[in-house]
Amino acid sequence: MTTAQPRHLLDGSHRRMFIGGAWVEAASGQTMETRNPANGVVIATVPRAGKKDIERAVAAARNAFDGPWSRFKPHERQKLLLRIAELFERHWEEICVSDTTDMGLPIARARGNANRVLGMLRYYAGMATALHGQTIDNSLPGDIVSYTRKEPIGVVGAIIPWNAPTAASVWKIGPALATGCTVVLKPSEEAPLTPLLIAELMAEAGVPDGVVNIVTGTGTEAGAPLAEHMGVDKIVFTGSTATGQSIVRASAGNLKRVSLELGGKSPVIVCTDADLERAVPVAAMSVFANSGQICIAGSRLFVARQIHDEFVARLAAYAAGLRIGNGIDPETEIGPLISPRQLQRVEGYLRAGSEEGARLVVGGARLSQGALAEGNFVAPTVFAGVSDTMRIAREEIFGPVISALPFDTLDEVVRRANDTPYGLAAGVFTRDLATAHQLSRRLQAGSVWVNTYHAIDPAVPFGGYKMSGYGREGGTDHLDEYLNTKGVFIRID
Ligand code: NAD
Repeated sequence: MTTAQPRHLLDGSHRRMFIGGAWVEAASGQTMETRNPANGVVIATVPRAGKKDIERAVAAARNAFDGPWSRFKPHERQKLLLRIAELFERHWEEICVSDTTDMGLPIARARGNANRVLGMLRYYAGMATALHGQTIDNSLPGDIVSYTRKEPIGVVGAIIPWNAPTAASVWKIGPALATGCTVVLKPSEEAPLTPLLIAELMAEAGVPDGVVNIVTGTGTEAGAPLAEHMGVDKIVFTGSTATGQSIVRASAGNLKRVSLELGGKSPVIVCTDADLERAVPVAAMSVFANSGQICIAGSRLFVARQIHDEFVARLAAYAAGLRIGNGIDPETEIGPLISPRQLQRVEGYLRAGSEEGARLVVGGARLSQGALAEGNFVAPTVFAGVSDTMRIAREEIFGPVISALPFDTLDEVVRRANDTPYGLAAGVFTRDLATAHQLSRRLQAGSVWVNTYHAIDPAVPFGGYKMSGYGREGGTDHLDEYLNTKGVFIRID
């Protein structure tokens, strides 16, 4: 019997997790708190799942995969996804408030993501009826017909970080529903609430029991058993490169497929001919949006030497003018970092920047005036005089920190931009078409944006080069990650 889920109140009350269509507690009975990062207030408790709960969720996902879900026709999966999109649209404000309260994203930014998230759901809905194999002429003796079939891979384990719970959940669950897979999703322990709300909406839309399961818990107690589980056919992971590496190791037991969206240290290159009116705010928000907690943050800002000082001065003025505070205020542009731990980490980088000889241009410290003292706020920060070997220029900070680095020639900046273990994204500002094409070709990154940044579309593949991961989200490549290709030969002579 389904146990009812207490309402999504964000007032400190308890929420349950979702397994096999039921709202349940952890087998151990343990719970954990989640806090509003803007003021430290506990907004909910959730089950603290362990291995037994993962076992239960994987079994539910397997039963659903083998059961009625396998008989859903593509057009039925399409209708389901369209109903989910409709319900998301109707509950969009509740989803935004949930993300803002649980992980700090300014509500204005959360609201602005509507088209992206709804667009993803509708894109997958479209794709559900567009999946197909091929007939292939072969060279075999006799009369043998050969063709391929695309088949759902099975039970997918999805593990997501805290910086974009709604989009990350939809990017993992949407393609599973389109292709006929089932999912066990483990949200981040730092921001588990919106995925639970999403599960409620999916159940209301008519997703059959066990097709989508949400298991709340920590990385080691719930994430690792999911990554290791022999009954999971595929792991889709978004998070840090270090955790991605441990997931690859954990996947070895049954050689499950793995897709990884990992960290970055993305370069943004501002050429002498750039339109500075456009480049300054875009370069600034490429990092400061979501307080720098963005995998694609353009945190290495290479500026042509002739315009470097002017650009840095304009950037500093822009950073100093940003409105910082509790994201629930619609005027807020920059919210808090997710946790006191993340705050300490970012403060460590601020100290390292100064100690290694970078020049602090603006920001550089925790903000603790008035109500900000209750939360994890850091001033948007720009360092100049940064060299390529400093820690702030090499390591992912995941905070609102830009390192400005002058350059002289395009060959030099391409070499320096590519001199990183990461390869998630890159930005270029130029008015010259040839430079735009040449740099787009030469930069080693899964996404290159010219005269814009953050452009992400459900139809365009997104993912990493090098240690930023492998596999793609968005586009037809994304659906392929959830499918097996089977070759069939039938002798007809
Ligand atoms: P994280 O790697 O610490 O955690 C991510 C998820 O993995 C969480 O749910 C966590 O509980 C789980 N986890 C932790 N240890 C695990 C283990 N041993 N086995 C299985 N699961 C485990 O990352 P984070 O701090 O939550 O997020 C920040 C990182 O995510 C940054 O590096 C950022 O660049 C990256 N990220 C990448 C993208 C992308 O699309 N490339 C998007 C967002 C964030």
